[in-house]
Amino acid sequence: MEARIKGTTQLLCLIGTPVGHSGSPAMHNFAFAHHGLDYAYLAFDITEEQAPEAMKALKLLGAKGFNVTMPCKNIVAKNVDEISPEAEIIGACNTVVNENGRWKGYITDGTGFVLNLRDHGVDVKGKKILVCGAGGAATAIQVQCAFEGAEAVTIFNGNDPFLDRARETAAKLAEKKPECKIEVHCLDEKEVFETAVKEADIFVNGTSVGMKPHEDGTLITDSSLFREDLVVCDVVYNPKETRLMREAKAAGCAKVIGGEGMLLWQGVAAFKLWTGKDFPVKEWKEYQGAN
Ligand code: NAD
Repeated sequence: MEARIKGTTQLLCLIGTPVGHSGSPAMHNFAFAHHGLDYAYLAFDITEEQAPEAMKALKLLGAKGFNVTMPCKNIVAKNVDEISPEAEIIGACNTVVNENGRWKGYITDGTGFVLNLRDHGVDVKGKKILVCGAGGAATAIQVQCAFEGAEAVTIFNGNDPFLDRARETAAKLAEKKPECKIEVHCLDEKEVFETAVKEADIFVNGTSVGMKPHEDGTLITDSSLFREDLVVCDVVYNPKETRLMREAKAAGCAKVIGGEGMLLWQGVAAFKLWTGKDFPVKEWKEYQGAN
């Protein structure tokens, strides 16, 4: 690693707080070494208030780009010079690219979801997708699926403040992607929920339900709603296998996809934006398996 760093090495980094646990530096530095790219990736602990100043400093230092984690995703979206259509709808950026001295902001969480499904042999194009939740992860998935040609995106959220966010997302998507049928419902509408699960091709838990320390949570308590050809996805990656995933597998769903792959693939998408190259996914998985 040290031997790679020279006077010409360009900086990439993660900003947000906390960042100490992040797997992004290891992942991207591995890929830079793999491709022989003259970049290095670090993580900086930056608060929301510090983010605009950090962006100016990184520009001054000629950084190639950066990732953004909580709590800085929204403030960064407000401070980039240009923003992708998906990131604009969501109002958040997790990847920023230095394009000729201008910061262009993107969001790759939803791309990560779509690429992870593709890695499992599932294409969202033309599909009816039911997404529970309206927070950061769920909104990114809803927007990306609409942009990738899903036939319908049906959003269910509990009766909490995120329900209004779901309605806002639906209104923006209706304007930008009128060909995609968007509906919003409250999770309290039990019969509507059950009918929607029966009609969906892909079911996504985009909420934190089932996440540690509440591993016993799930949004599908009636196992008869699972069927072999229903693709069941969870954004939760801690635990790796959630109760939803376990019960979907037990009930015979052929494709059950967890949140861990989405994390990897959002990084893959960011890497492509910065370098134009494909992230060495196979080699990285082998390296991780051996270490
Ligand atoms: P958020 O706080 O922005 O949104 C939380 C969502 O969960 C809201 O829609 C809220 O209504 C819903 N929710 C919370 N408790 C609920 C309950 N008891 N019943 C029904 N709905 C409930 O959170 P976020 O950043 O979107 O993260 C959500 C989950 O996704 C977390 O587990 C997070 O770790 C995971 N995540 C995964 C990835 C990935 O790449 N796999 C990326 C981001 C987030």
